[in-house]
Amino acid sequence: MNTTAAMIAHMAPDRNTTPEQLAKLIDVHLGDLHEADPNWTLAASVVAGRGVFATRDIARGELIFRERALVVGPTARKGAQLNTCVCCHCLLPAQGFLCAHRCTLPVCGPCSDSETHREECQHFQRWQPIDAVPEGAEPSGAEQINPLSLRILTAVRVFHLGQQQRSLVDAMQANAERGYRQEIIKAAQCFRNFPTTDKPFMDQLFRIVGVLNTNAFEAPCRVDGHETLLRGLFPLTAIMNHECTPNASHYFDNGRMAVVRAARDIPKGGEITTTYTKILWSNLTRGIFLKMTKNFMCDCPRCNDNTENGTYLSALFCREQGCKGLVIPVQTKTMQPDWRCLSCENVFPHAKMARYQDFALNTINNRINSSSVQDMIHFINELCPRFCPSSNYVLIEAKLNVIWRMTRFNAEQYTDQEVAHKDRYREEILAILHKLGAGECTLKKLITEEIQ
Ligand SMILES: [Zn+2]
Ligand SMILES: [Zn+2]
Ligand SMILES: [Zn+2]
Ligand SMILES: [Zn+2]
Repeated sequence: MNTTAAMIAHMAPDRNTTPEQLAKLIDVHLGDLHEADPNWTLAASVVAGRGVFATRDIARGELIFRERALVVGPTARKGAQLNTCVCCHCLLPAQGFLCAHRCTLPVCGPCSDSETHREECQHFQRWQPIDAVPEGAEPSGAEQINPLSLRILTAVRVFHLGQQQRSLVDAMQANAERGYRQEIIKAAQCFRNFPTTDKPFMDQLFRIVGVLNTNAFEAPCRVDGHETLLRGLFPLTAIMNHECTPNASHYFDNGRMAVVRAARDIPKGGEITTTYTKILWSNLTRGIFLKMTKNFMCDCPRCNDNTENGTYLSALFCREQGCKGLVIPVQTKTMQPDWRCLSCENVFPHAKMARYQDFALNTINNRINSSSVQDMIHFINELCPRFCPSSNYVLIEAKLNVIWRMTRFNAEQYTDQEVAHKDRYREEILAILHKLGAGECTLKKLITEEIQ
């Protein structure tokens, strides 16, 4: 599919739902969380299709809305602990964690008999997952879950939503990506009796998987100290359009409730935006991510500034002998910019700088995955400055990783000096967020421990 066709697919209001009908469905979905006189409304957006707009001036920090997840399920991502109950998300034992009714989903005892699990349990039993233990046989010690069949569960749950909730899912936008059909075919191969010949069912499933892949959020959820990432559909949060430095922030309260607040003052009539990327990614990284996952090119002011509001998040060192100047992309809004040194003004082709950026990324990420916090601090302070400018987003992400690990796990085991490094990293990141004009963004709240 070419870019234009993909864009249209992304922006097209689906199933001919009018903005008024969509607003009604959202109101029903919000239920008791719907305020009498909300400070937001849905309207057509110049950015893409439709969006959320301020009905009056909204002050920085003000609550805009809260919404419960319409549906949640496991992310089943690589590295996820699959022995997590798909209903209550508690951690299950390493063995013997599959549903007592042999649907081969990981489900705890109480949840396996619950009303919420009954219908999906029956579907999975009927479809016969290939890892299922045959009737009458004792479960062997080796339990296996196929992440692909686990991932399809969220889509299956959509089939069992109430009528109006289901209409809301149908009204949501979906990218028509060929990869999604592949995802369903692969999931179907995990079952003996998947209804692949039932065309209406398969068409709906394809559409639902498209809606989920286009709109779902990954939201952390903690149960008895066990943290897991849920895949949740939050329709109103998903309607908000993207801006690289958005004027609203969202976070998820225990995986099931989205909370959206103004990060900056928003004038009456202004569009309320969120970000689909990480806020500290470089222009190119955000651009590639948005193109690949959301099928569009962002045109916000930040994307049009090659100094990135003076943060130089893309900057790499000059490749010229003896020059340690910063090299940044010359052109914006292209995936293949030339790069120019701010000191010697030499220009380098993108391919060369992309290889250099990949090297920095891989070197730093390998360290993050294999090092203790102490080693990481040493690596960031002593070794990284030799090959990576301190403003580069990969190095910033490494510092964030140190902050994150030090504040969440056994905070008391660190020396005063290590804590001082962490505090310095935090000040550095807060200064970058300030340059970006990020206001009360989610990342700021996270590193200042305003939210967990
Ligand atoms: Zn459970
Ligand atoms: Zn079951
Ligand atoms: Zn942008
Ligand atoms: Zn140079």
